[in-house]
Parts: sequence; C-alpha cells; structure tokens
Amino acid sequence: MLDYRRFKEINDLFAQGQPEKARRLLMEVQSRCIALRDEMNMLKIRLQTFEDILYLAQNLYEESGFYWLKTAGVKQGPFCPHCYEHEGGLIRLEKSGHALHCPCCDTRYTHTSPACADIKIDRQAHQAKIIPFAG
Ligand SMILES: [Zn+2]
Repeated sequence: MLDYRRFKEINDLFAQGQPEKARRLLMEVQSRCIALRDEMNMLKIRLQTFEDILYLAQNLYEESGFYWLKTAGVKQGPFCPHCYEHEGGLIRLEKSGHALHCPCCDTRYTHTSPACADIKIDRQAHQAKIIPFAG
C-alpha cells in the first residue's frame, strides 16, 4: 500500500527548505505508484479471468457428448470436447460433409460416433418444437 503520510513528509521537507530530500522522497513515492498501478493491472486481468471462469461454469454444459454455451438464451456450439478437456479451449466444430470437424485439433466426429448420432436426434427434437402458424 501507498503510505499517505509520505505526502505530508514531502510537504514538510519543502516547507523546511530541503527540496533535495523532498525530491528524493517524491521519486520514491512515484516509483511506488508505478508499482501499484502495475499490480492493479495484473489484478484486473486475474479478476477478468475469474469472471470468465465463473461465466463458463454457469453457462457451459455438456450435451450429446459435446460442449455448448448458453449466451443470452441462445445455445452456442457444439464445441470440441477434446480441445476443451485438454486445453480448456472452446473451439466450435465445423460441419464437414456428414461429420463435424475441429479446426484446431483436427478431430472428426462422424455420424457413426454416438455423439453425432445424438446431435442428429437433438436437431430433430429442435425441429419438432417449431410451432407452425395457424392457417
Ligand atoms: Zn478440437
């Protein structure tokens, strides 16, 4: 912490006609301020990291063998389970023919894998929820 009594000491030194001592103390306080600013920036980054982790913990979920993220009520995904479980990265899978492909780790999830079969089921379930307009 910054010792605020230092400012009074500096003022007193100037008042006593000791500008060199005051200047030295002022430089000390300045260097402490710079160190505190650096520490505060580092803490802001750590806080942001914890907020991101908390956000993920509250909004990331597993379904059909893939990871999904709920943002503002919208389901985002699917994200690569391999990348998330090994690197903590959320990599959105891309459609590649009848399979899903991870552009990061190059893993392919084919329709023969249980996860992709579930995705197909999930999509049908989603379509079933569409309520047609009354004619
Ligand atoms: Zn991946």
